Amino acid sequence: MSAPKKIALFGGTFDPVHLGHLQLATTAKQSLDLDEVRFLPCQISPHKLGTSPSRGEDRCEMLRLVTRQILWAVVDDFELQQAAPTYSYQTAEAMAERFPDARLFWVMGCDQWESLPRWKHPERLAAKVEFIVLARDRDPQPREGFSLHVIHGEHPASATKIREAIASGEKMHPWLAPAVADWINKNRLYLPVG
Ligand code: ATP
Repeated sequence: MSAPKKIALFGGTFDPVHLGHLQLATTAKQSLDLDEVRFLPCQISPHKLGTSPSRGEDRCEMLRLVTRQILWAVVDDFELQQAAPTYSYQTAEAMAERFPDARLFWVMGCDQWESLPRWKHPERLAAKVEFIVLARDRDPQPREGFSLHVIHGEHPASATKIREAIASGEKMHPWLAPAVADWINKNRLYLPVG
């Protein structure tokens, strides 16, 4: 019998996707020998920093532009298609139904690993996925009932700082892929409202 396909789910706002996200996905892929990383943009609040928020379609398109040449990357608008914001455990349960023979993982930064006990039904998420967590200044601590794989490779990128830079008139940012910067400028994303 062949080994199950290893699929990692990577949820986030990706507003916009930046090189830190790509490095995290790449490190996870290489460290765990994953077959696929599925980027799952979530629904977000329409108010951020007083700038115009990007629509789900824009965030998805920026993800598609940046992963176009990456064979193991998939952009999945599953959460954006739901009527109401989706909890991660619901996404994981839906993916387990969609890929019944796969071994599922959930990729996240250390900050999210620490806040996980406050998520909705973390035990239901843990029942479906193994966690791949990027260590930052400290290693994530194991948690009973949760399967944990720690990976290393920090990147300084921050979507908040990128949005602030664009809002203050910058057209390009070193943490952005050029195709994403083009999309942001063409569609006038993150500019101050009014
Ligand atoms: P914001 O600044 O808008 O909060 P963000 O990039 O921190 O943006 P998300 O887009 O939701 O937030 O991040 C998705 C995932 O990527 C999260 O698991 C987060 O921990 C991780 N992540 C974000 N930035 C980095 C980075 N520089 N290096 C590694 N992982 C990151």
